[in-house]
Amino acid sequence: MKDENFLKEHNARQLWHPMAHPGEAQAHPPRIITGAEGVNITDIDGHSVVDAVGGLWCVNLGYSNDLVKEAIAKQLYDLPYYSAFAGTTNPPAIEAAHAVQEFFADDGMERVFFTSGGSDSVETCLRLSRQYHRLRGEPTRTKFISLKKGYHGTHFGGASVNGNNRFRVNYEPLLPGCFHLPAPYPYRNPFNETDPAQLAQLIAQAFEDEIAFQGANTIAALIMEPILGAGGVLVPDQSFMPMMREICDRHGILLISDEVITGFGRSGDWSGARHWGVKPDMMSTAKGITSGYFPVGAALMSGKVAEVFEGSTADGTISHGYTYSAHPVGAAAVTACLSETLRLNLHDNAAERGTQLYDGLRRLSEKHDLIGDVRGGHGLMSGLELVSDRAKKTPLDAATVKRIHDATYDAGAMVRASGHNILMSPPLTISEAEIDTILTALDAGFAKA
Ligand code: PMP
Repeated sequence: MKDENFLKEHNARQLWHPMAHPGEAQAHPPRIITGAEGVNITDIDGHSVVDAVGGLWCVNLGYSNDLVKEAIAKQLYDLPYYSAFAGTTNPPAIEAAHAVQEFFADDGMERVFFTSGGSDSVETCLRLSRQYHRLRGEPTRTKFISLKKGYHGTHFGGASVNGNNRFRVNYEPLLPGCFHLPAPYPYRNPFNETDPAQLAQLIAQAFEDEIAFQGANTIAALIMEPILGAGGVLVPDQSFMPMMREICDRHGILLISDEVITGFGRSGDWSGARHWGVKPDMMSTAKGITSGYFPVGAALMSGKVAEVFEGSTADGTISHGYTYSAHPVGAAAVTACLSETLRLNLHDNAAERGTQLYDGLRRLSEKHDLIGDVRGGHGLMSGLELVSDRAKKTPLDAATVKRIHDATYDAGAMVRASGHNILMSPPLTISEAEIDTILTALDAGFAKA
């Protein structure tokens, strides 16, 4: 590794960072993370902390799973690359597709289309949902409906259904025909409705109204996260997703469950939709599929969708795919990662430790007035919404959020600051003591606000 001065200088000179201002690397250099073990990361100064972010909601197995690392290394020597475009395939891809399909069989998923990440998986679901309707003789069904606060990646399709202006405004005009419903967000919503079940009803009604307004025969799909992650960990009422499913069915609209965060155990069950007793038509996945050890995603299709493509004429050709779709090394990572995820029953630990984290955060909110809302309680995804005035719910200023974030890091935990939210999604292998470390570090962080 080059020395520290080289790394700092060239980070500012050559490397542009996602979701960061390229002019800021000099004034506010990012932390250089040099190593990781278990659930801990170490920076270039030798400071080691619990990674309460799990990379980016992805390192479900923690950083030290040798089985996954060995599977990747071995595959690099056996066959480092071959494409799965029409005409060829490779053994690890076939094995991985089998593993993924079995993993989500109880969600009704029957076919697997590999991608290179979450944005690709979303794009795949959006594009194939249009083709599905075209194949069924309804080519007018092209529009998409999604939730405000939803996050669906950064491709043009994903950004168009994204429900957070921050990720849209610089790249407009986006895809036409995308419409957004209010989020299941009792703390702030246009109805001033604080009861989650009542709010769910109101959003379902808004969905019905939007369908009536647009015309059901123009709408291809509803895309939603079962629990909204990047938008601030918004956990809807348990009635919400089943109601949305029923409305979709009644109007011939496909339901795409964006499980990029919630899939593979993070929500306390193997998928987020299963948590709410819903079977989607398509699922977009990534992150936990390889625990971040290799960039892979997958778009999954139910039997209902598969049947239409497979029984069709030449128009059913999937004119869509990525050079790295079904990459053999990524596929080897998937098979090993899913086998480990199942062996360790990670969803159980996510549920148990998730409750511990959520309860601890609620106790912190009794002590620190800057915490306006505490969210989570369903697996290892939690969020704090920070305010300078609880009664007025005034969002906390960025400088104070950063101070809390940095002081928490100094005290032993990396958390994620996103707008005026602090988000947490640690590895699903985390122990009781390590959750306590996160809570103690946050307490110290707030004390320095
Ligand atoms: N969908 C959801 C629900 C996500 O949380 C994310 C990423 N956080 C994406 C899609 C995009 O995934 P990626 O960053 O791997 O492209």
